[in-house]
Amino acid sequence: MAAAFPFEMNIVGIDVSGKRQMFALVRDTTEAEKFKAHLSELAMTDELTQLYNRRALLLALEKELASAKRGKRPLSVMVLDIDHFKNVNDTYGHYAGDLALQHFATIASRSIRTEDTIGRMGGEEFAILLPNADEAAALCMGERLRTATESAQLVHEGVAIKFTVSAGVSVAGEFGITPAQLLEQADRALYRAKETGRNRVCVYTP
Ligand code: GH3
Ligand code: MG
Ligand code: MG
Repeated sequence: MAAAFPFEMNIVGIDVSGKRQMFALVRDTTEAEKFKAHLSELAMTDELTQLYNRRALLLALEKELASAKRGKRPLSVMVLDIDHFKNVNDTYGHYAGDLALQHFATIASRSIRTEDTIGRMGGEEFAILLPNADEAAALCMGERLRTATESAQLVHEGVAIKFTVSAGVSVAGEFGITPAQLLEQADRALYRAKETGRNRVCVYTP
């Protein structure tokens, strides 16, 4: 059986010996399509951690929120920020800092469920979308990730590097909420986690 492949076709009319002839030029675009898919994947990926980048995460948030509204299901958003990360760079160097970010990305990716989406929002800040997770479930997940980070260590050039993370959670239970509002609420909760001592998870309360 012949295999199907993507193609582009141009039809041209040419006069041959006074007779109009139609020619079809067919071009196999398999490689071009693969390249396009590769480019759009690159545009969605954070280069350092290979997680979703900010843009991809915001797109995913729009989709997840719309789906939660349709299904009348909760959606929790968690933003995370590594504590005193400047100290990690200052003490161990920027390269070790980069390794620490990759290390955290691995810990976080292992802590989430398959339906969750994680991304790096920029710098040492990450976000996780938790579909079907109410406040209790999101808090439980946040605590798991917080303790996993606290107890992990990255060994670089024989030196153990340790750090902690703070997180803020907001839950879309009220379905008029926008993606921007959800993120802003999670940011406020994160701010409170920082203010009240770091290495903790706080939930947004109005
Ligand atoms: P806080 O607990 O309040 O969050 O303190 P912090 O030191 O983590 O926060 P601050 O915003 O003062 O510093 C963030 C640091 O993260 C400063 C910046 O150089 C570093 N950083 C941001 N992006 C990267 C990166 O891609 N690689 C490395 N190595 N460092 C980064
Ligand atoms: Mg920060
Ligand atoms: Mg920080």
